[in-house]
Amino acid sequence: MDYDILILGGGIIGCSIAYELSKYNLNIALIEKDYDIADDLSFINTAIIYDGAECSNDLMSSLENMGNSLIEEVATKFNVPFKRIGSIRIAQTDVAVDKLYKMYNRAKRRGIKDIHLIDEEHIKEVEPNLNIPVKKALYSQNTAVISPYDLALAYAEVAADNGVIFRLEEDVVDIKKLSKGFRVTTSKNKFTCKVVVNTIPGEQYNLNPTNEEETKVDKKLYYLLVDDSFKECNDTLVINEREESNGFVFQTPTLSLGTLVAVKSDVALSYEELIKTSNSILPNLSKRDINYMFSDEFNVDSMLIDESEISKGYINVTGDHYGEVTIAPALSQILCESLVNNLKCTLKRDFIDKRREYFRFRELSDEQKNELIKIDDRYGKVVCLCNTITEGEIVDAIRRPLGARTVEGIKRRTGATFGNCHGSYCIDKVINILAREMDKKLTDIVEDSKNSNLLVSRIKEFDEV
Ligand SMILES: Cc1cc2nc3c(=O)[nH]c(=O)nc-3n(C[C@H](O)[C@H](O)[C@H](O)COP(=O)(O)OP(=O)(O)OC[C@H]3O[C@@H](n4cnc5c(N)ncnc54)[C@H](O)[C@@H]3O)c2cc1C
Repeated sequence: MDYDILILGGGIIGCSIAYELSKYNLNIALIEKDYDIADDLSFINTAIIYDGAECSNDLMSSLENMGNSLIEEVATKFNVPFKRIGSIRIAQTDVAVDKLYKMYNRAKRRGIKDIHLIDEEHIKEVEPNLNIPVKKALYSQNTAVISPYDLALAYAEVAADNGVIFRLEEDVVDIKKLSKGFRVTTSKNKFTCKVVVNTIPGEQYNLNPTNEEETKVDKKLYYLLVDDSFKECNDTLVINEREESNGFVFQTPTLSLGTLVAVKSDVALSYEELIKTSNSILPNLSKRDINYMFSDEFNVDSMLIDESEISKGYINVTGDHYGEVTIAPALSQILCESLVNNLKCTLKRDFIDKRREYFRFRELSDEQKNELIKIDDRYGKVVCLCNTITEGEIVDAIRRPLGARTVEGIKRRTGATFGNCHGSYCIDKVINILAREMDKKLTDIVEDSKNSNLLVSRIKEFDEV
């Protein structure tokens, strides 16, 4: 056998499973079709860590609640930005108040702690910025925000340091059951393995395809990224149900830049309608306060974790869930436990549960900055002026385990090119550093994937752009 375990798909679920399994004496590889891991975790993910109170499905709720407790430990251990911000779900009508009571009672029945029903006069104590009429609110102290890409990267880096092989740019095209184990065919190779953990979304490469669509897409979620100059945003996640349209609107602080407003709607909304809906939480928000707008599918709580063939060595994790980042630590621990029990393998003695150190220059004190520059003067050269990202950080992002190989990889790892100038000042500098560090031609540097080259050709033979 080439491997004991092959993990298919390098999203947050695949990477967290790789990390959990890397604690054991197993020969593991993860296969990912893209240039980088966790491609789905775009720079602006809502990044909310739920606590299971909002979830209608009991199993998903308990995974969320378990994930909510575990994730803080993981974030602290691996230096992943994480903050408990709390959430306030507000009710402005009697029908909405009724709904809140039901949600509160369900959360209590599920044993979720630190959830409170509060009246209007107490809301200001929790969220002084909230400036709208409210009859009742459900306040959860558990809700948090995280940097989800950084979490996936941390899991992957530690797994790689502990021996998991990441096979990037390999597309899984077939999985076959053999008399012993499996054969997985990719666009580049054929591998045999004892166990397959398949996290590729959809049915395309499923060993047992069904005709049923497990994921129910519940219409669209529209996002507005509010500029930092708008000073009336709440520090807490604020959710307002919209009974009239079977949707909701929420506003959440992010750990990267600005505040996100999200509107879920069954019908298409114009930009003006989005702003108007957002005003139900942020009354003075206007078009000029918005930096970006984008939309995505909102997936309701249905996810399939199929362990029925675990004794034959096949686990399938499929479906999409709006809280998959939240459940990742819990799901991966549970799956890992079942797998290692089946394989009867032992813990590694030399497992290193530590992520290699890195520095975010802009968060250091002046004294720390000077010390760092003394050790490596590349930390003294600011490449991205908008976000104060130094050359030292970019070089580290390239040289780390699973290092960045694309401009998008640099952006996700460091924040360079993601400022108000959208990279117009620093993108050429980032391309130069990537080409130098990877010993490639400038014209070979890609944005995020094959054939996404940023420079078409040379017009003059300069060494730098
Ligand atoms: C807009 C948005 C906001 C969200 N906000 C939150 C939030 O606030 N809180 C929260 O907890 N969750 C949130 N989520 C959910 C969460 O981000 C996603 O559900 C999660 O990232 C999915 O992870 P995954 O590992 O299951 O799948 P994916 O990330 O899709 O990973 C699967 C991987 O498989 C790879 N792959 C596909 N086909 C092949 C193939 N043939 N061969 C090899 N590799 C292949 C893909 O490239 C991909 O990297 C949000 C999701 C979206 C879309």
